[in-house]
Amino acid sequence: MQYRRLGRSGLQLSALSLGSWVTFRNQLDTRGAAELMKQAFDAGVNFFDNAEQYAGGESERIMGEALRTLGLRRDSYTVSSKVFWGGKLPTQRGLSRKHIRDAADAALARLQVDYLDLFFCHRPDLDTPIEETVRAMGDLVRQGKVLYWGTSEWEADQIAEAAGIARALGVDPPTMEQPQYNLFVRHKVEREFARLYESLGLGTTIWSPLASGILSGKYAAGIPAGSRMTLPEYQWLRERLESPTGREQVEKAGQLAQLAAELGGTPSQLAIAWCVRNPHVSTVILGASTPAQLAENLAALDLQPRLTSEILVRIEAIVGNAPAPAERF
Ligand code: NDP
Repeated sequence: MQYRRLGRSGLQLSALSLGSWVTFRNQLDTRGAAELMKQAFDAGVNFFDNAEQYAGGESERIMGEALRTLGLRRDSYTVSSKVFWGGKLPTQRGLSRKHIRDAADAALARLQVDYLDLFFCHRPDLDTPIEETVRAMGDLVRQGKVLYWGTSEWEADQIAEAAGIARALGVDPPTMEQPQYNLFVRHKVEREFARLYESLGLGTTIWSPLASGILSGKYAAGIPAGSRMTLPEYQWLRERLESPTGREQVEKAGQLAQLAAELGGTPSQLAIAWCVRNPHVSTVILGASTPAQLAENLAALDLQPRLTSEILVRIEAIVGNAPAPAERF
């Protein structure tokens, strides 16, 4: 395993980590989740990602139970939660001081831990002043309930505003952002956040490295039984897969699969290694519904040295979506 600092912070996360969105409860019970977490931990993974929203809190409950049964030392792993979608009531959602405090306490109880290593604002809340959110996060840090706070799918200027307010208030600025990043979605990580890596030392914990499984290449011949796209709750993902953009992605995934085979790896490994090769990525959060998938994905680091500049050029020729660099005048 490789370890990387979370942005400019001193925290070292494993370059590959494990998330629980979709999988915990929908596809894995507590036993299956614990098995996957042990497999990851034994391979050097030290970060497990979660959110109050995942399976309506059940994902955190399952992870907490798994952590308890595995008996992992608290100083040997990091765990996250995210606040935004905690329920249907107006007080149960968004980034108000109240919901942030309630969400943190509920996550701590479900995960059965005394503190969250990472706590994310799951989306920007346009109806709450950023200052209120920054102050509420600062309070959680001071209380020892949260070590590092950050954002997910915020815009660069919202993150910069939060950091400026935090500096003025003397509280901790956001340490990390959690954006989607994969061979199909690149703009935020490669272009929009470029200045923030320098100015704030922003870390990134990136999600959906396989674009929900499309980059594994398995959708080339239709939708396999039991896959994420067959789950009723995730019909919106299936609709996206069956859209013209989705069909184009499946076709490109097929071309990438041929390249992966040439390199002696699998399509999933190629896609994950491609994310890891970006030095601004602190950790790639893997998703897996079976131990075999996880084993395959964890071996992606072996493929990384084979991503030479010539191979990267061939990848660009297939995906054709590199963001244009900022203009210099
Ligand atoms: P991926 O894009 O890597 O998709 C993972 C899914 O792809 C698996 O659950 C599995 O689904 C399929 N898959 C994985 N490996 C293989 C393989 N080797 N062969 C074939 N199929 C494979 O990641 P996720 O979308 O799951 O995101 C990862 C994590 O990121 C989440 O768990 C969550 O923690 C975080 N996240 C954060 C978000 C945010 O807004 N901050 C949003 C989304 C995710 P199946 O077997 O069912 O087909």
